[in-house]
Amino acid sequence: MIDYEAKPCVECGAEFIPHSPMSKYCPACAPKVYRRKHTERVRRWRTRMKENEQQWRAETTS
Ligand SMILES: [Zn+2]
Repeated sequence: MIDYEAKPCVECGAEFIPHSPMSKYCPACAPKVYRRKHTERVRRWRTRMKENEQQWRAETTS
């Protein structure tokens, strides 16, 4: 295991030891932020699917 230097969490500013150089959030915020990002992704995907469906309907009907 490599130990990285403590750095402040992007979300709450608390110092934490990251598990990887990519980590930006403390263990308390990581799941919260991940869930938020996931929700946004799903919402965008749903919007896109709805647009595709409307386009598909427009092409197939009339
Ligand atoms: Zn945090």
